[in-house]
Amino acid sequence: AKGAGKNQYCVYSEDMGFQELRKMELEKDLYLALDNEQFYLVYQPRWNVKENGLAGWEALIRWNHPRLGVISPYEFIPIAEETGLIVPITRWTLKQASLQCREWHSRGVKQPVSVNLSVRLFQTESLQEMVQSTLKEADLDPLWMELEITESMVLHDIHEIIAQVESIRSMGVKFAMDDFGTGYSSIGLLDRIPLDTLKLDRLFTNNLEIPTKRGIISAIIMMAENLELEIVAEGVENQEHVDFLMQLGCHVMQGYYYGRPMGIEEIEEWMKQRSI
Ligand code: C2E
Ligand code: CA
Ligand code: CA
Ligand code: CA
Repeated sequence: AKGAGKNQYCVYSEDMGFQELRKMELEKDLYLALDNEQFYLVYQPRWNVKENGLAGWEALIRWNHPRLGVISPYEFIPIAEETGLIVPITRWTLKQASLQCREWHSRGVKQPVSVNLSVRLFQTESLQEMVQSTLKEADLDPLWMELEITESMVLHDIHEIIAQVESIRSMGVKFAMDDFGTGYSSIGLLDRIPLDTLKLDRLFTNNLEIPTKRGIISAIIMMAENLELEIVAEGVENQEHVDFLMQLGCHVMQGYYYGRPMGIEEIEEWMKQRSI
């Protein structure tokens, strides 16, 4: 038993070493990734079930690492935040997503695009300037851009954040609260930060068979209606999810059931199949 214990310890410590090493390597390589054009965006559709039509796109970033392959944002975004690289990366993402949105518009597919905004961006003085100049460079009307923020913002200077949201919103850019319901003081934030959309976290969607969860979602949806916020359900994976959400009064959905995050060519095919 002693031997096995020792063995286990070794495996564990080697594993830790591997994780650390990988993170260090990713961090080093992340500095070169923008210049070497290793990022690309995929887009996931937002679907309006009532109108049976496309309601927008969310841009999601991917890193094609030359040696390690495609790396999930769950892994590299935290490193980008720590190093500050999240600022130039987000600038690039805003520009790319805006250009792509324009491209779809020019072909008659007039839908908004959403971009995820790390809270770290609010610590840079020039967020408003960044959003304004990228939209201008891409010649996209701010009305078509939505920025997704999360509840983790409450850990930061909330007054400063509210001021920045207000100034960006005054350009016409929309704001969505992402992963709503997973953080804390969710409700308390709603009357302080000016928002347009609530994105219901997929944790709720995945637990709709539990009556208490349904009760909570139903209340959130009613509250969103009263606050005149659009509500989008995340993680919609099957018809059962759709039926439950429709019953509760939510009809804008995002999830694998309607479409996975896709590259541009895949989207062409996806749109063709739906006569978009
Ligand atoms: P998120 O903003 O909550 O994005 C939704 C995530 O859920 C995406 O993961 C998407 O692929 C996944 N998803 C969508 N539909 C379903 C479904 O039906 N079932 C399940 N199980 N999952 C679904 P992804 O693309 O791996 O992104 C992970 C997270 O990384 C995002 O979560 C977002 O927080 C962050 N992220 C992605 N792109 C960016 C970016 O450009 N900037 C920043 N700051 N963060 C980003
Ligand atoms: Ca998001
Ligand atoms: Ca989300
Ligand atoms: Ca999430």
